[in-house]
Amino acid sequence: MAILEDDVARVRAATDIVALIGEHAALKRQGTRWVGLCPFHQEKTPSFSVNAEMGVYYCFGCQRSGDVITFVREIDGLDFVEAVRRLAERAGITITEDSQATAERQWRKPLFAALSEAVTFYHERLISSPDAGPARDYLRSRGYDGDVVRRFQLGWAPDDWDTLARHIRVPDKVLTDAGLGFVNRLGRQQDAFRARVMFPIFDPSGRAVALGGRILPGRPDASGTPGPKYKNSQEGPVYSKRRTLYGLNWAKLDVVASGEVVVCEGYTDVIAFFMAGLPRAVATCGTALGEEHFRLLRNFARRVVLAYDADAAGQAGASRVYEWERHHEVDVAVAALPAGSDPADLAVEDPEALRKAVSEAQPFLAFRLERVLNSADLRSAEGRAKAAEAAMAVVAEHPNELVRDQYVMVVADRTRLEPQALRSLADRQSRSGAQVGAGRLSSNGPSEGADTDAAAPVSGASRRPRSPGRETQRAGLEALRLAVHEPELVAQRLEPVLFADETQRAAFEVLLASQNLHEALELAEERGEDVAVLLRRLAVEEPLADPDDVVVQLVRFASRRALVEIDAQARLSPDSFVELATLSSRIKKDLEELEDPGLVNEAAERLLAWLVARDEESA
Ligand SMILES: [Zn+2]
Repeated sequence: MAILEDDVARVRAATDIVALIGEHAALKRQGTRWVGLCPFHQEKTPSFSVNAEMGVYYCFGCQRSGDVITFVREIDGLDFVEAVRRLAERAGITITEDSQATAERQWRKPLFAALSEAVTFYHERLISSPDAGPARDYLRSRGYDGDVVRRFQLGWAPDDWDTLARHIRVPDKVLTDAGLGFVNRLGRQQDAFRARVMFPIFDPSGRAVALGGRILPGRPDASGTPGPKYKNSQEGPVYSKRRTLYGLNWAKLDVVASGEVVVCEGYTDVIAFFMAGLPRAVATCGTALGEEHFRLLRNFARRVVLAYDADAAGQAGASRVYEWERHHEVDVAVAALPAGSDPADLAVEDPEALRKAVSEAQPFLAFRLERVLNSADLRSAEGRAKAAEAAMAVVAEHPNELVRDQYVMVVADRTRLEPQALRSLADRQSRSGAQVGAGRLSSNGPSEGADTDAAAPVSGASRRPRSPGRETQRAGLEALRLAVHEPELVAQRLEPVLFADETQRAAFEVLLASQNLHEALELAEERGEDVAVLLRRLAVEEPLADPDDVVVQLVRFASRRALVEIDAQARLSPDSFVELATLSSRIKKDLEELEDPGLVNEAAERLLAWLVARDEESA
């Protein structure tokens, strides 16, 4: 954080969110909210809402949400500090930067300067130096003209020990921290790169943070060893692979405009997509796509298209992909590139094919399913049965039951099996433990009104947090809406233990711990993005349900969940069986009284007190 918290708060307070967003979208007043067409996604009916009092927005279409700072970051592709500076300027506020941050910036400044100088040096060598002839030939052979070379600031690191070090003349520590070189055993500065075509790597705001170097085909460097094909800067104070995406600085405008980012495997792939007229590609730098990359990408786009070689895409860990989708609220799709094809070649030979692969990208699950079904022998009954098993195992990995069920129909269609047979196959697969944690695949859950949690199997040994049923989710949301908008109606009657969904529970705890909604939003951001998103959404919604009903329903669901656990426990521990069975029948009786209008209030109070005590005990 390079800006004082106080200043951030002042900037937030001084910015009228309705006026700010009004510069990008027409907003109309509707009750306590302002609504309009979302500036972040294409839509015909308004799903974008602003709560002016709390200073937050939420879109029911694309789920983007935030405050004035988030809005400026997303709409203009800025980082946090830049966004605060811009808003400060707009509001006429002078901000001071705190001394520690300033010191840190001072310390990193020479690193950025050295990197920037290195980029220029290598670039000029490539363009004009006689020793760069073979590099220029190589780039021309890949279809790169002068525009491409200039746009991507490509360079040439001469085949020598210390050309760069002698040119930029920086202290040893700057050279090494910037990843540009090292000090050898004789105490002399050496370059990190030699005889390589250089691809400078920038942060989203366009500062050079690292370099990637590629050897020329068939040309070892002077040390005689060809070395790896690609070599990247060492990580250091200004460069972290986990947090860097090559190309984002050039791609961000098109990524924001299209709402989509293409993630490919290497620098030359990124350039290939730009050449093919899709300037929204990025690549990881010598590391696999991970959590932090998604955190960065979600500021810019909601759709992530993996443009990998089909085998590489097939191997992306399914559970991680679904987790990213859920946690960062992005959709991950796969652009199936023709097998064995190289985007760089396609960009020159058939750019249309490259564009088509992206526009026809399939959801991750659909892509994996296709691979399984396409490699199966669907001509014989045995082959179809085998294919069905493999396909259902893939389907079962998806965490959302509604999504799974739609793919059951796809598998049924292709394998000519009854959907119901596939569902029971999936149930058997999950019971046999083959799909631990994948959730159950079943559409014949408990009947209407019953809560799905209560019927979920509980295995004493390896209990994972199950995702709560839809009814529980809905009741939890209603309760939170009330807690946000009409706290006096529910505040005394809700407890964290009533919320089965972890995010909902966290949101409620945040509300309990704060004096007002502004404070709650700040706390929520500390708890996690999903909690903050939920609170912003609640801020633009209105409570619909009756407070008494909501409270009773939550107590009912929470008690049933506890009851299932107690019954399971009773089966597993014969010693305390009697005690647990007594408890169980007492809870069942209270649950019955919950349905009696004359007894409901007292029963609810007893159950809630018991749930709270039980929760405290286990904590
Ligand atoms: Zn939207």
